[in-house]
Amino acid sequence: MRTLSLYLHFPFCLGKCTYCDFASYPWSSHHDRNSYLALVCTELSLKVKFFELEGSVLESVYFGGGTPSLLDAPSISSFLLYLQRFFRYSGKVEITVEVNPGTVDQNWIREVARGGVNRIQVGVQSFDQRFLLFAKRACKVEDIYAILELLSTQGFQNWGADLIYGWPFQGFAEWQKEVKELLKFEPCHVSIYELSLHFPSPMAWFAKRHPRSFPSDDEKANWFSWTREWLIQRGYLHYEISNFAKPGFECQHNLRYWRNEEYLGLGVAAWSYLRGERHRNSRHLRNYRFHLENGSLPIEYREALSLPQRLDEEIFLRLRTSEGLDTEILSQRYPVALVKEKIERMEFLLQEGFLQKEGSRYFLSAKGMLVANQVFSEIID
Ligand code: SF4
Repeated sequence: MRTLSLYLHFPFCLGKCTYCDFASYPWSSHHDRNSYLALVCTELSLKVKFFELEGSVLESVYFGGGTPSLLDAPSISSFLLYLQRFFRYSGKVEITVEVNPGTVDQNWIREVARGGVNRIQVGVQSFDQRFLLFAKRACKVEDIYAILELLSTQGFQNWGADLIYGWPFQGFAEWQKEVKELLKFEPCHVSIYELSLHFPSPMAWFAKRHPRSFPSDDEKANWFSWTREWLIQRGYLHYEISNFAKPGFECQHNLRYWRNEEYLGLGVAAWSYLRGERHRNSRHLRNYRFHLENGSLPIEYREALSLPQRLDEEIFLRLRTSEGLDTEILSQRYPVALVKEKIERMEFLLQEGFLQKEGSRYFLSAKGMLVANQVFSEIID
């Protein structure tokens, strides 16, 4: 029985945040939403046929963005129903929608829950109005409190929130306040991200001109260590580099990515991993639309991974999680000589304190978490 995860990228947002490097477009009208969803449905039927996916069992569905909470509740429910033309839902399917504050109300939450959504991830990012303004977030602090209040008091069980650290002029005490504020609402899941400074975002240009306005790498590493300890003491599991969850509330959709399992991505810029091949859709809405209106797949980039590349991907993904990497399982899947060479590299990192080991399973140590990318680059080619 083939199992699958499905990701739908909804690329519209109320504005453009100054740190954003995602494929997102300003929301102009409800026409955008409906015509976009029609394109996604066309893409779905084309890909199901092309990749022979019919009858697969969906383990998770994730509406990401962009701001998928701009979709109205009936559209989300209809799309979830439409998926049943091609797939079966697993009995424990996880269905997540990312929500931006100020875009939904109590009715929306109730209706999407009725339609099958059983997980919500809120993009809080910060409780500090100064950072929200600097980032040009399209919400006010009051909107954040309103959605968190709703989720924590209306009986929606599985919800989480994202916070960003490393804002310009942010101090440690301010960051601690952000984490403590969020925890008052008792989310089941907390994602902690460092502020992204990728060109050509305005935030990246600001950082280039005013590097001293931002906390240093050492400061950020200390803040992260504090956050980690603080959350662990309060019963959260640090189950992936940026993610913490109460036991049983780990995001199953993301775990499938990190376990290197298959997923189907739909929408602008969405990635898929099917039959050992990764592919990405066009990043441009116009191209994406053009392909689908002409009955062709909107795939812009594809890469069939060789065995050594697949091994590297698996190491990179699995080491991100607290489950870590079991070299016995690797040896069953990949040539022994390839795995042996990776084990030698990991043994070196173990001696240096960047990895830990239990039986045949390696995982990042607290020290390794802080420099995860460097650790990965020591292991993979
Ligand atoms: S809400 Fe998210 S996707 Fe939209 S502009 Fe802001 S950072 Fe980008």
